[in-house]
Formats: sequence, structure tokens, C-alpha cells
Amino acid sequence: MKDIGLIGLAVMGQNLALNIARKGYSVSVFNRTANTTQEFIKNRVKVENIEGYYDIKSFVESLAKPRKVILMIKAGKPVDDVIQQLLPYLDKGDLIIDGGNSYFKDTSRRINELKEKGILYLGMGVSGGEAGALHGPSLMPGGSYDAYKMVEDILLKIAAQTEAGPCCTYVGNDSAGHFVKMVHNGIEYAIMQAIAEVYDVLRKGLKLSPEEIGEIFEKWNNGELNSFLMEISYKIMKYKDKETGKHLVDLILDEAEQKGTGKWTSQTSLDLGIPTPSLNLAVEARTLSFFKKARVELSKKVTKTYTTTNVDKEKIIVDLENALLFSVFISFSQGLWLISEASKTFNYDIDLSEVLRIWKGGCIIRAKILDFLREIIKENTENVNLLNSEKALSFLMNKFDSLKYITNLSKEFYLSTFVLNSSLDYFLSMIEENLPANLIQAQRDFFGAHTYKRIDKEGIFHTEWETQ
Ligand code: NDP
Repeated sequence: MKDIGLIGLAVMGQNLALNIARKGYSVSVFNRTANTTQEFIKNRVKVENIEGYYDIKSFVESLAKPRKVILMIKAGKPVDDVIQQLLPYLDKGDLIIDGGNSYFKDTSRRINELKEKGILYLGMGVSGGEAGALHGPSLMPGGSYDAYKMVEDILLKIAAQTEAGPCCTYVGNDSAGHFVKMVHNGIEYAIMQAIAEVYDVLRKGLKLSPEEIGEIFEKWNNGELNSFLMEISYKIMKYKDKETGKHLVDLILDEAEQKGTGKWTSQTSLDLGIPTPSLNLAVEARTLSFFKKARVELSKKVTKTYTTTNVDKEKIIVDLENALLFSVFISFSQGLWLISEASKTFNYDIDLSEVLRIWKGGCIIRAKILDFLREIIKENTENVNLLNSEKALSFLMNKFDSLKYITNLSKEFYLSTFVLNSSLDYFLSMIEENLPANLIQAQRDFFGAHTYKRIDKEGIFHTEWETQ
């Protein structure tokens, strides 16, 4: 009898199965397309205790009871289909763990549907790409605590390990795990876009080569910006195409694809009424990038005149590093605020400090700055967007002039900086006592009699604006 089963042998599933087996567990695997299972067993399984199955019934029957089945398949309908295929063979008390990027509302529905049948269900965010799945991902399991306890030992062993412990914890009730993974990806979109904007200023504004930018990014990666995304960015900058000998990044089409988790994060932030402009604008930037033909045509119609002769390159590089740090902090600030609000709305009971801890290793947004963010949240667990702290404000104010300068400078170069701009605007709005929302309230009341409140007396007011 095998300890655990895994369905879905694309990159993530294969690597996760190997990771589990290498930690001493026996694993049964199944994939819809049998050939993939055969190839996996033949080419990648060596000494590991992994056995391939070619029909769901014998796959399920090979598992020790209570059975534990991990799904690593395409999110959406395939997950429902596979659950339906498994159900006839499962018993009460068996557990299904969905490790894919499922939409959190689907996970809530599945938890409830399966609860009625006595089947336990965990929605588990998995981050770290294929390398993470093999060597230690960040795992974000949510659902019933009893279900988590059934697989806790395995999950803690296969997760990335840091000095702060394994990058896995019970995230919270219901779809908490998939919610946190969704927001993780929203933050990931924002940080990637911020790095891309900084790269744009260096490449087009300062006319540096990818090699030179790679050197700068590598230096930054040795400092406060140390992170997985900074590390891969400097490696990308230095990579030369084998065929042409040119820097590969210069040859890649500028249309950024997306699978939906960033969009879900933005949609959810709008639904829950939490401001996440940096995360939202990162999604918009990817969407806009796809209008290549329109961009090419328009670019020919506009003359862009700017000079780079009188700029202080050294100062700009320092300011860019600060601007990026500011935006990374703000992206986390917005994402954590969203998670905190969801935790209240959906009764997830999420510990934000623990979320930051399990993002420290294995995942795509792992970064040195997480230690600083944990310090801030530990000082005051009510400070859910991290801004309400002397430390945070002094960190941001130290970088404020740099970001202000860079956002202005980027416009001198005719460059868009969606995430850098919106991080600055978010911060400016959050530290502003009086926003111009008073005029918006007046406009709403003018055309729609929507009423307004006053700052000088209590009550709800309406004015006949045209009568004066
Ligand atoms: P894909 O998302 O490309 O999914 C492919 C797998 O899903 C294959 O095993 C495929 O089987 C199976 N599948 C698709 N449709 C069905 C269906 N209707 N019934 C049964 N099986 C089906 O694979 P990945 O490995 O990239 O990702 C797996 C999951 O992990 C996804 O939810 C993904 O979003 C998530 N994820 C991926 C990461 C990554 O870096 N790739 C990182 C973190 C999470 P078949 O071979 O028969 O087509």
C-alpha cells in the first residue's frame, strides 16, 4: 500500500512526486494521458518508490487508508472532472488535496460538496515553479485542520526549509490556502512589472546594455533587494542566445502572457473594497502589452525627443534601486491588506506573520525584505497593510525622493511605469488627510441626489445645486 497518490504528471506533478518519494514516502501516480505516466516512470524514476497506474480504480486501491490524493492538474473544470472520477472509489475520511492554482471560490464549493460525502479536502497553494516542486516549494494548505493534520508530516518535509522553519503552515479555514496563493501571484505580478519598469529606464533611458544591467541587478541582489525575482532577472540579462550570440532578452517579443491569478487578485480586491493599485496596474500592463500592432503603429506617429547626455547615471541607478524597494514594499503592503480583509470576510483566521514566513523560501516572491515585513507585523498584528509603523514610514520616506525623481524621469524618457507610479500614488493617498473625494461626493449629489456627509456637522445632506 502506498503512502500517498498524485494525479497529474505535467512538470509540477512529476517533480512533486519525486520530491515526496525522496523524503521516504511511497507514491502512486496517475495521469489522464497514459503515455506521460510511462515516460515519467521510464525516464525519471530511478530509486524512488513511485509506481504508475493506468486506471483510476487501481490507482485508488493502491493507497493506504485513509487515502490521500494530491491533484496537480490544470485548474478549473479538470479538477471537478477528476474529483467525479475519484468519488466512486473513495471512502469516508479519505482526503483530496488540490495543489493547482484553483480559484478560491471553486475550492470553497468543492470543500462543501465533498464534506456532504464525508470526503476531506485541502486547497493548497504551491509556489516555486518546477524547481521548487522538486527541491522544496512554498506550500499554502487551507481547509479543515483535521485534513491538514493527516498530511502535515509529509508537507513539512517536502517544503523548502529556511532558518525560520519549513515553508509550510496550516494557512486557515476553507479556501484560505488558495486565496493566499492567489494574492501571492498578484504580488508576484506587481514585483515582476516593477523590475521590468526599472529595466526599461536603464535600457532605453540610460541606454545601458543587458550585460551592464545584469551587473547592476546582480549588485542589487547582493543587497536589500535580494530575492528570487532579482536573481533570475540578472541571470536573464546576462544570457546570450546560442544561435545568434545576442542577448536573448533583446530577442523576446514584448507581449506578456497571463493565466489569470493576477486578474483574480484584482477582481477580488475590487469586490472586497481593498485598494491594490500596484497589483491591478501590473495586470493592466500585461494586458496592454498584447496590443503590439497598435503600439507599433502609434509609435511611428509620435516624435519622442529626449536627451541622455546630461543625466547623472550613478545617481539614477541608486534612485532606481530605492524606487524598486519602495514598490516591492508597497506591493506586499497591498497584498497583505487584501488577505487580512478576506480573512475577516470569509472567516479564514489567517496569521499574516506566518504567511510571510512561509514565503521566505521556495516561492517566487521569496525575498530578503520579508524579514523586515515580519518584524513590522510582529510589533503590531493589527497593522495589516504594514504602513502604520515608524520603521515602515522611515523606510519608505528614505526612498520617497528617489521614487518621485524616477517617476518624473521616466516620463522625460517617454516611458510608462505603471507599478512605480501607482505605488507612489497609493502611498501619497494613504498619507493624505484630505483627499479630493469631497468634490466627487458633491458631483454625485449634484447629478444623482446621492447625498453627502459634512465635516462640520453630523447627518446626511442633499443640496439643490442649481438653485443658488
Ligand atoms: P498544467 O497546468 O499544464 O496541467 C497539465 C496537467 O493537467 C496534465 O497532467 C494534464 O493531463 C492534466 N489535465 C488537464 N486537463 C485534464 C482533465 N480534464 N482531466 C484530467 N487531467 C487533466 O500543468 P503544470 O504542471 O504546469 O501545473 C499543474 C497545476 O499546478 C496547475 O493548476 C498550475 O496552475 C499549478 N501550478 C503551476 C506552476 C508552474 O510553474 N507550472 C507553479 C505553481 C502552480 P494530460 O497529460 O492528460 O493532458
